[in-house]
Amino acid sequence: TDITRLLLSRIRDVADYPEPGVVFKDITPLLADPAAFTALTDALAETAERTGATKVVGLEARGFILGAPVALRAGLGFIPVRKAGKLPGATLSQAYDLEYGSAEIEVHAEDLAAGDRVLVVDDVLATGGTAGASLELIRRAGAEIAGLAVLMELGFLGGRARLEPALAGAPLKAL
Ligand code: 5GP
Repeated sequence: TDITRLLLSRIRDVADYPEPGVVFKDITPLLADPAAFTALTDALAETAERTGATKVVGLEARGFILGAPVALRAGLGFIPVRKAGKLPGATLSQAYDLEYGSAEIEVHAEDLAAGDRVLVVDDVLATGGTAGASLELIRRAGAEIAGLAVLMELGFLGGRARLEPALAGAPLKAL
């Protein structure tokens, strides 16, 4: 569609970042273009509405930039899932494996409860490790998953298949 073309035209491929052999998808040109940023926000907010979400979770850090305007556009609260050690209140945390080593993410326990339906928003789905851990974390906090919405899915990394158990039937929307 026209929107897909617009969004794709504002994503920059950066070769050999953050390490040799990797092509990084840089979304900063999209953020700098208000027409593209608005089109992206509208499309993700429509997904929030279609999935019946009652809250939007954004994943640090680019998921914050995209998730916050989506939450406001959809009339929903925004909740950050952060890297370990950044949230001041009582948290739930979830560890997950990286290619080398592991990472940990956290959410404020009081921000999610039974009855919440959460749309998770991030910019890029790569291996699915980050999103998968977030889905686990949100379930452990007692909430339901309404869906996962990303700007871009790197299909060759197999994230969608890896996320199937964690999504448990909830939709994965990649614009
Ligand atoms: P995954 O956990 O799926 O392997 O990696 C996804 C996470 O890493 C997301 O939070 C995303 O922001 C970041 N990420 C991985 N690769 C890229 C990329 O090429 N471009 C951008 N913008 N983010 C990426």
